[in-house]
Amino acid sequence: MKNELLNKTIHEVSADLKSKKISSVELTKAAMDHLEEIEPKVQSFITITRDEALKQAAEADKRLAAGRDLTPLTGVPVAIKDLLCTKGIRTTCASRMLENFKPPYNATVVERLYAAGAISVGKTNMDEFAMGSSTETSYYKKTKNPWNLNCVPGGSSGGSAASVSSDQAFASLGSDTGGSIRQPAALCGIVGFKPTYGRVSRYGLIAFASSLDQIGPFSKDVEDCAIMMNTIAGHDPKDSTSADMPVPDYLGEMKKSIKGLRIGIPKEFFPEGLNREVSVAVKDAIAKLQSLGVEIVEVSLPTSPYALAVYYVLAPSEASSNLARYDGVRYGLREPGENIVEMYSKTRAAGFGPEVKRRIMLGTYALSSGYYDAYYLKALKVRRLIKQDYDKAFEKVDVIATPTAPNPAFRFGEKTGDPLSMYLEDVFTVSINITGLPGLSIPCGMSKSGLPIGLQLIGKAFDEATLLRTAYAYEQATTWHKQKPGLKED
Ligand code: GLN
Repeated sequence: MKNELLNKTIHEVSADLKSKKISSVELTKAAMDHLEEIEPKVQSFITITRDEALKQAAEADKRLAAGRDLTPLTGVPVAIKDLLCTKGIRTTCASRMLENFKPPYNATVVERLYAAGAISVGKTNMDEFAMGSSTETSYYKKTKNPWNLNCVPGGSSGGSAASVSSDQAFASLGSDTGGSIRQPAALCGIVGFKPTYGRVSRYGLIAFASSLDQIGPFSKDVEDCAIMMNTIAGHDPKDSTSADMPVPDYLGEMKKSIKGLRIGIPKEFFPEGLNREVSVAVKDAIAKLQSLGVEIVEVSLPTSPYALAVYYVLAPSEASSNLARYDGVRYGLREPGENIVEMYSKTRAAGFGPEVKRRIMLGTYALSSGYYDAYYLKALKVRRLIKQDYDKAFEKVDVIATPTAPNPAFRFGEKTGDPLSMYLEDVFTVSINITGLPGLSIPCGMSKSGLPIGLQLIGKAFDEATLLRTAYAYEQATTWHKQKPGLKED
């Protein structure tokens, strides 16, 4: 039986921990029991770490008893995407290649969660090496959407999204290279945040496309998102791309008024043929924001139709280089061969799944001499133009609002036969990675068949605070975030 405290948010349950209504060990046991009970249905996790979690909870209880070093996360169970290194705990990237890989150190974000006293319940399922939009490319299992178990949870951070949506964890960490936090958050009816490139350290994140990758949180509401951001954001000398800039107190910033903010609506993000339910829900959300005192301004991002093409040249190119390290020598799987070249080739043939191989081939092609100028270099030039469009739009507005995903959750197998149709899932999210800007998805509606719809809010570089403020005001005026999934098939 599910303990009702698991329905709560971090800010609510943290008060219960501090007032000793419940101990962290009790809460963690309840969370693990519920997690294990529904896991056969949802399948959010590759590795569940019950024993480690209970040890961490006992430590958190000492802190709570002493009333020392308390943070809103002290004693609270969270989940971690399986591409963030966890010392001594298997980190697979959902690939056969890393089936038995136990990192010798923690990612900085993991260290920061632990330092705050958070408890890790396990490592969540994902698309292999974060390549995908449905979590179906995982070598291990298919995570189900808690709102309809016949549908995908989105991807690539599908396990992180499903675990929070179904109360297996109070929050989780994911990564977003082209939409992998925002799109699964939209499809699972929760909040997902991709911070500005450089805002959160990526030390210990297994790289996919290094100029696009960013780590961020999933949470049940905006206040919890601010709590997670306060914990993980900030400079880290171990990541040379991490920005040495002051981090505002997001919890305080979030509560400021949004009156007078200007919100831009780019017409290119509402094309003919956009799913009607998505279009109606997002337009209603914009009207709601207007009623709360923001000014709505039409903006244009004329190069946005090229973003998907740019992304699917840049991301595979960077991936082909990053994944060269999996050669049977340094990490993970090794398949014996007659000589070293055969060993490399057998290892990579056996260790990577079809989507990863497709990306490596696309990227290697785009980077090869003779094609480099036509593809990779051209994509870099268009990347600059896309950035300039956003810079221009942000001269007029503080935030840009769009749909997060072009449709609600789709069914298993619906898009796996046609890679292009899967890539189109990212049409509204990839430009934010290309430009490095922060983007957040917040629940803003429900389809007739009971599947969540997400509103994407995009901000200026390093202005996460204004996004959280806008999202918080919207959330205070609506109830979408309070709905719970039924864990049922249709
Ligand atoms: N769906 C996109 C891809 O397959 C984005 C993935 C991600 O953000 N990690 O590349």
